[in-house]
Amino acid sequence: MTGQETSVEESLEKERYDRQLRVSGWRQELLQKATVLIAGVGALGCEISKNLALMGVGKLILVDNDVVELSNLSRQILFRDQDIGRSKSQAAAEKIREMNRYVEVKPVEGDLRRIPLEYYEEASVICACVDNWPTRRWLNSTAVETGKPLVDVAMEGVYANVQDIIPGKTPCIECHGEELIPREVQAAECTLRRRRPEDLAQDLKEQGITVTLQEAEELFKAGIKTIFDIKYSPLGGLLKLNPSGGELIQRIRELLRPKMPALQSVAAAISGIATMEIIKILHRGSLGKPYSGLIIYDALASRVTRVPLSRNKECFVCGEYARGEEATLTMEKDTTVLQLKEVIAQRYMYPDPEVQYKTKILKDDVKLGQLTADDELMLFIHTSRRLNPLTIKVKLI
Ligand SMILES: [Zn+2]
Repeated sequence: MTGQETSVEESLEKERYDRQLRVSGWRQELLQKATVLIAGVGALGCEISKNLALMGVGKLILVDNDVVELSNLSRQILFRDQDIGRSKSQAAAEKIREMNRYVEVKPVEGDLRRIPLEYYEEASVICACVDNWPTRRWLNSTAVETGKPLVDVAMEGVYANVQDIIPGKTPCIECHGEELIPREVQAAECTLRRRRPEDLAQDLKEQGITVTLQEAEELFKAGIKTIFDIKYSPLGGLLKLNPSGGELIQRIRELLRPKMPALQSVAAAISGIATMEIIKILHRGSLGKPYSGLIIYDALASRVTRVPLSRNKECFVCGEYARGEEATLTMEKDTTVLQLKEVIAQRYMYPDPEVQYKTKILKDDVKLGQLTADDELMLFIHTSRRLNPLTIKVKLI
């Protein structure tokens, strides 16, 4: 580009953002050099990425593993009829590019927990727009452990909420898990999943879905060991692993994922609030402070409520013992690994713990006292609810 062309380009860009540049404290250059990762491109993810693109955030990473469906079109602003069946992240990226050519967009198709960590590390802010607690818990842990600010957004029917998590400064979503995570989610998260075909069949039965043991074994062979795997693994990947079980997987998936009530107007309202929280975080103080508690929108009562929250030192994601000061459990020497897993599921709401001692993942029937002659053990707990394992010290009696 010649010097003249550059200055024309610059003045066009300036004119594009003219009205927002007039907001006191606004710093467009901070938006331009920022990257926001949008985790989940549904109603909230579409709205928020649209807002950030129009306002000129430099780069958006859009992550989703689903395809566009007809029932998305009443809310998800980036999709059209002709997008049905297409990847959400790809279709959304195209529309974003049309809206603002100054924004770089990176569509990523895949499971949020399995995409390369570099995408999270590259982000200035992570925005969680997911519809389930297991993934929100994982994103929360990932944000805390990578030191990235997280804006967590959720909605159901006429209610919606936003929480900013600034690692080391504000509470995380697990600091008050006992009060804020819905009771039925807590009960499910506290139940140990043993990962045998019969347990998967039992879990499904509790959800009112009957599969034969043979079918459960089929699912196991395809790597589907929990209800979570069926609900949230990318369908394409599951079908590739197990073409013959495709119909079964799809049938169970439809039964397991009840459609939640959702409204575009509520999505737009809460997304507007969440977008401002992201913008404030990116402004680092020149545009007001991000709110450190929970913001709740009740559309029927026309009310936005702020619920102050404080950090919980005992939090096992962002608290003191998650960083060096490990948790301590006291167990009898003949406690088996399976019994320990049950305690961990209850205490930390980790339904799928795997226990590592030194470099080995322990089998269920191993007794803790067999592992060492000492009276304490250092163990690492792996779970799909965390990025890195939780370290615990077990005192043997
Ligand atoms: Zn916390």
